[in-house]
Amino acid sequence: MEKKHRVSLWYFLIAFWALIILQEIYVASQHMDEVPYSQFKAWVQDDKVAEVSITSTIIHGKLKQDRESEASQWFQTVRVDDPDLVRLLEEKHVEFAGVVISTLWKDVASWVVPILVFAGIWFWLLRKLGQGAGGGFMRIGKSKAKIYMEKDIPTRMKDVAGVDEATEELLEVVEFLRTPEKYTRIGGKIPKGVLLVGPPGTGKTLLAKAIAGEAGVPFFSISGSEFVEMFVGVGAARVRDLFEQAQAKAPCIIFIDELDAIGKARGSGPMAHEEREQTLNQLLVEMDGFDPRVGVIILAATNRPEILDQALLRAGRFDRQVLVDRPDRVGRAAILAIHAKAIKLAPGVELENIAAMTPGMVGADLANVVNEAALLAIRRGRETVEQQDFQEAVERVIAGLEKKNRVLTKEERRRVAHHEVGHALIAISLPGSDPVHKISIIPRGIAALGYTLQLPTEDRYLLTRTELENRIAVLLGGRAAEELVFGEASTGAADDLQKATSIAKRMVKDYGMSETLGTVALDQSVKPTFMPTSESYSGATYSEKTAQDIDSEVRRLIDEQGKRVKTLLAKLKPVLLSAAEQLLAREVMTGEELQALVPPEHKQPLLQ
Ligand code: ADP
Ligand code: MG
Ligand code: ZN
Repeated sequence: MEKKHRVSLWYFLIAFWALIILQEIYVASQHMDEVPYSQFKAWVQDDKVAEVSITSTIIHGKLKQDRESEASQWFQTVRVDDPDLVRLLEEKHVEFAGVVISTLWKDVASWVVPILVFAGIWFWLLRKLGQGAGGGFMRIGKSKAKIYMEKDIPTRMKDVAGVDEATEELLEVVEFLRTPEKYTRIGGKIPKGVLLVGPPGTGKTLLAKAIAGEAGVPFFSISGSEFVEMFVGVGAARVRDLFEQAQAKAPCIIFIDELDAIGKARGSGPMAHEEREQTLNQLLVEMDGFDPRVGVIILAATNRPEILDQALLRAGRFDRQVLVDRPDRVGRAAILAIHAKAIKLAPGVELENIAAMTPGMVGADLANVVNEAALLAIRRGRETVEQQDFQEAVERVIAGLEKKNRVLTKEERRRVAHHEVGHALIAISLPGSDPVHKISIIPRGIAALGYTLQLPTEDRYLLTRTELENRIAVLLGGRAAEELVFGEASTGAADDLQKATSIAKRMVKDYGMSETLGTVALDQSVKPTFMPTSESYSGATYSEKTAQDIDSEVRRLIDEQGKRVKTLLAKLKPVLLSAAEQLLAREVMTGEELQALVPPEHKQPLLQ
């Protein structure tokens, strides 16, 4: 479409100029003698002129045939304003005609050409703009999602390792695409949208490709940023087009990489972004609009789930979230093995060993390690890659990563291990705390160097005072363990302290749980009923003196819990030390494994 338009426009311009030039050449080719007007008039008087054509400025003429002695029969003269000329020509029976063509062309050209030139520039600019944002002007709005057909996707689930939980969940999606009858027959509903969440480089894009490869269905892949254009409405049109294409090809998979580019919460940020909001709205509409039974599944990936619009995560949209986390040691060894298939390993290379050296690395980093190792081996003129190459490669990759602050030193890891065990031990020994599910020293997110995952046994809407105090205690456990073992605290506890303080503050201000201040709610804020917004009004309704009391009461609450935690941990110190050693070696521990180390008198009574 676009191409044809452009070409015909140019043809038109060229043809136009060619006509003008041809005419000039024709006129010039006629060897005309330039004669004075008086001479011309004399010829007419003498009956020598056969015919003339008169334009607004020039008179062309032809002399009569019988004058063979003349060098040229044609002549030309400048027209003067002579009212008698026509009468004279008639009298002498000269054929004459007024010709306007020659100047008509020029007149027309004088206004058509500028218009055409401007139109040309305009078209060109628009096309440029369109291209800048990707795609030509004429096809703005057409989705640029590439369609990979089955044979184009060689990726399989066996190419992905170390993210077993995610793999398992996604295999179900594959099952559905292969045999939808199995699910629809009993009325089962497969999720419309599956959101892959996890840090960069953990294999989200890879997983999406693997699913498509396994299921053997068309795969529409597009990146969120490709939707966002400079023209409002273009992104929305693209979304529409993408879903149209996909539904025509069902069963198939739509994969939107980097969903956060369009899925950012609406109306957030310094400027509400009109175009992005329209695109997001269109995406929501399309997701609601189709029936999942036709077999279109929408996969999306993001490493920033926290900024996504809540509406995207609602039931019927991306209602299933799959965590693609950093791999543990076993997972890392498996990933290394996958990538090592492409290179020649020397006998005796222990990938397990390399995995142990690379805590915190993600799949992309490990692929990088293998590649670096191969490069080092080549540089040394070896035929195979040896353990030593791997060790050096790890050091290189870590050096690269250290700038991004993701890899901890040995000492730091020891500290993190004790810190996390501290949290977990307190949670295990205090009645009413949520059971510990998992502890890990695999860094997660930007701030967390390790984590203790407590899973509540049931949904909690009400918490008693004791439970809140216990929560504060668990939060303080990390810091207390560091102090107990290393003699001083570190910056690692900043986030814990913040959370503990905020709980204590709410106990005092909102829940009336402080004897000193009594059972009053000290903050009168308007809370939204359904949707969390940033616009809740909050006003201090207490005096300066009360503010001081609140501060000291919060401090008292936290100090109290701090002392309690220290006493508890001091009693559990042997358990703390041995558990931390185990955690260092294995990187992850389940709650049960930790429970097994705790002497029975310190375990909380099991929850019913
Ligand atoms: P993400 O999309 O999560 O940022 P990618 O899927 O783009 O990460 O991963 C980049 C590359 O790193 C992949 O192409 C693959 O070579 C390697 N990789 C990442 N994770 C894994 C994994 N779990 N198993 C195998 N290779 C992985
Ligand atoms: Mg990706
Ligand atoms: Zn902590």
